[in-house]
Amino acid sequence: MKSTTRVVVIGGGVVGCSVLYHLTKLGWSDVMLLERSELTSGSTWHAAGGFHTLNGDTNMAALQGYTIRLYRELEELTGMSCGLHHVGGITLADNRDRFDMLVAERAKHRYMGLETEIVGPEEIAKLAPIVNLDGIIGALYDPLDGHLDPSGTTHAYARAARMGGAEIHLHTKVLETNPRPDGTWGVVTDKGTIHTEHVVNAGGLWAREVGAMAGVYLPLHPMEHQYLVTEETPEIYERDSEHPHVMDPAGESYLRQEGRGLCIGFYEQPCRPWAVDGTPWDFGHELLPDDFDKIEDSISFAFRQFPVLERAGIKSVIHGPFTFAPDGNPLVGPIPGMRGYWSACGVMAGFSQGGGVGLMLAQWMTHGECERDVSALDVARFGEWISPGYTLPKVIENYQKRFSVSYPNEELPAARPLRTSPMYDIFDGMGAVWGAQYGLEVANYFAEGDEPRYETPSFRRSNAWEATAREVRAVRQACGINEVHNFGKYRVTGPNARAWLDHVMAGRIPKPGRLSLTPMLSHAGRIIGDFTVACLSETEFRLTASYGAQAYHMRWFLQHPQDGVTIENISDSSTGFQLAGPKARDILQACTRTDLSDMRFLDVRRMTVGMTDCLVQRVSYTGDLGFEIYCDPMNQRQLWHALWTAGQPHGLKPFGMRAMMSLRLDRFFGSWGREYGPDYTAAETGLDRFIRWDKDFIGKAAAEAERASPPDRQLVVFEVDAADADVTAYEPVWIDGAVRGFCTSGGYSHWLEKSIAYALIPRSDLRDDLVAEIEILGRRCTARLQSAPLFDVEGTRLRG
Ligand SMILES: Cc1cc2nc3c(=O)[nH]c(=O)nc-3n(C[C@H](O)[C@H](O)[C@H](O)COP(=O)(O)OP(=O)(O)OC[C@H]3O[C@@H](n4cnc5c(N)ncnc54)[C@H](O)[C@@H]3O)c2cc1C
Repeated sequence: MKSTTRVVVIGGGVVGCSVLYHLTKLGWSDVMLLERSELTSGSTWHAAGGFHTLNGDTNMAALQGYTIRLYRELEELTGMSCGLHHVGGITLADNRDRFDMLVAERAKHRYMGLETEIVGPEEIAKLAPIVNLDGIIGALYDPLDGHLDPSGTTHAYARAARMGGAEIHLHTKVLETNPRPDGTWGVVTDKGTIHTEHVVNAGGLWAREVGAMAGVYLPLHPMEHQYLVTEETPEIYERDSEHPHVMDPAGESYLRQEGRGLCIGFYEQPCRPWAVDGTPWDFGHELLPDDFDKIEDSISFAFRQFPVLERAGIKSVIHGPFTFAPDGNPLVGPIPGMRGYWSACGVMAGFSQGGGVGLMLAQWMTHGECERDVSALDVARFGEWISPGYTLPKVIENYQKRFSVSYPNEELPAARPLRTSPMYDIFDGMGAVWGAQYGLEVANYFAEGDEPRYETPSFRRSNAWEATAREVRAVRQACGINEVHNFGKYRVTGPNARAWLDHVMAGRIPKPGRLSLTPMLSHAGRIIGDFTVACLSETEFRLTASYGAQAYHMRWFLQHPQDGVTIENISDSSTGFQLAGPKARDILQACTRTDLSDMRFLDVRRMTVGMTDCLVQRVSYTGDLGFEIYCDPMNQRQLWHALWTAGQPHGLKPFGMRAMMSLRLDRFFGSWGREYGPDYTAAETGLDRFIRWDKDFIGKAAAEAERASPPDRQLVVFEVDAADADVTAYEPVWIDGAVRGFCTSGGYSHWLEKSIAYALIPRSDLRDDLVAEIEILGRRCTARLQSAPLFDVEGTRLRG
């Protein structure tokens, strides 16, 4: 075993082997994998080996598509068999919501190039004759679904990696990972120490323990999981072709053919976490004891749904643990604040996702960024607020909801409230209906009178409709107030603060007393942030951006340090309120002795409001006259009482995130994670209008290339003839009878009383009178291109 290498991958499960292979594929051959036992010695060896593309997150679905297509390539490259069975699969729907979800997924697949299909009961009977069709409305058929041999596939990855120059050392247990002062690592094993630039934690069931060696807490937890293999079944072995997979969300089961019988696994409600206090090091190639009690209800349901099972005896039971993150997606990427330490953990569907995870991580390591938006699996989507006490109930919730319908407006209840601002009890007393964002409770809207304190999860317009409309009217007609606790906030200080900002941000950095809006670009010119920059003095700036991107943004900032600059994340130590609407200035003026009459749009000033020293920015995401008022959390309640009292004669009302997201539509404002994110560039989304071309900044070469040769697609806004459901994201856009683009987001503008959609479409299709169709829940709705905002066209409200 050599003592120096560029990368040490810890763990020889399917994920570690995929990472190793992809590193060699992208040209890094001086790489090594260390496995404490044999390959596949964690969850991998006892997996059912099923794979599918269906995933509520579009980027995850695309990665799953990549993984599945990779297997043939791997077989050809290595000459080894992955034991592929491309038998196709159906996901059943027994109620309207489940069917809506499948129809919406099918629509997304259109522009992703996935050949899925919605099928009715008659076709289901032909495809999967063992299904009891009572109550079944339809299903989604995916020809790519199938299963493979987990061990064969892992070994194929390993051989492909070796062919690319990688070394694999079995029976080599990693005992310590020690950072060195120069940013490299000493990986101590029971066979000696290896010096390396990069450590990849692909420890699977032991990822928590491996992380702890470097002082890293990874939010994942193992869960027990069980599947049964039946004896031979004539209805199966007498068929001419292999039976397709059947996913039955109502029964929380997946079923497939296994040899001459069947195999069925369950995501049961009375599920059990495993190894709560840590995975034992002596856990090896062993299974957990059979446990029929916890799957009793699931089995009874399965007997009704697949009557053939009742007659088939059980041949074997596989009961083993595998890991989940709180939201069920993998934990991938560089650990924020650390150099050369990478996560490839929490992969709960290694055979659907392992290839994509390996490719993304390898791209990140070798090129510095991935070719697509990986926010859904980025380890930085959880911040320092995460704890084992939070992870456990969230993982249980995720396991239980594995086959549930996921709604675009859904707020999951486990482990809440976790983080609250000083306003929590006041807003709660005013009827707040809460959502959670990055662990923080955020008011979605305020229920009044008999209105329920719970938003019905739905693909259609929800019961928050009236309340949202009421809050929108309050903002546009008088004034609304909400918290700014859920903005990411950063303080940048020092003699080189401006120079650093000029380098990191693509846009103009403002003069003292002023604000500017700027995109932040990656080296490849992708959008990795949309910031408001406030200049308080030549040596002190404030940045605001998305609250959920804090760890992501801090990681980037710390990866681009400069002498003479200090960057602090003050997201939770700076809070306050936003006042928005025509009466906003009058209300604020009633609380301060500072004269606001000459405070222009995009001015920033320090002032005392009530008894509290605040930083006030004249800007509002509602597109209206507005002020963001920042203060110390210890003073927030005092500030509230001052503003609320002064606001009463003016009709001040609280408003929540649902109203805010409706209001932004009136002015065509984009938002982070929807229109703005690493899948898109500044030129595609129109953010290039903020770029300052006469300076050097990260991503400039890529942005200039697009300036010289504009990109093929363009972000546009449509008014949609929607019925009872609006665009949420990724709905296909039909132009002249073909799918030409997709929606980034949308919703209902309660002020304009119009359904609005933001979409990326080919530049070649752009014309002023363009009438397209947007497919919402299977219905193609007429969509008219809008060339100018529909509210405050001259900007007199916003700037006045
Ligand atoms: C019953 C069951 C059925 C499943 N069915 C499916 C399915 O149908 N489809 C699907 O996609 N997924 C399925 N899964 C999930 C799948 O098994 C996992 O997603 C996958 O195995 C995760 O692989 P991994 O490489 O991340 O982790 P693991 O397989 O746990 O591998 C981690 C490896 O790291 C090694 N290691 C740990 N610590 C050290 C150390 N200190 N030094 C050296 N080596 C170390 C371990 O020995 C182990 O080999 C199933 C899981 C279970 C339990």
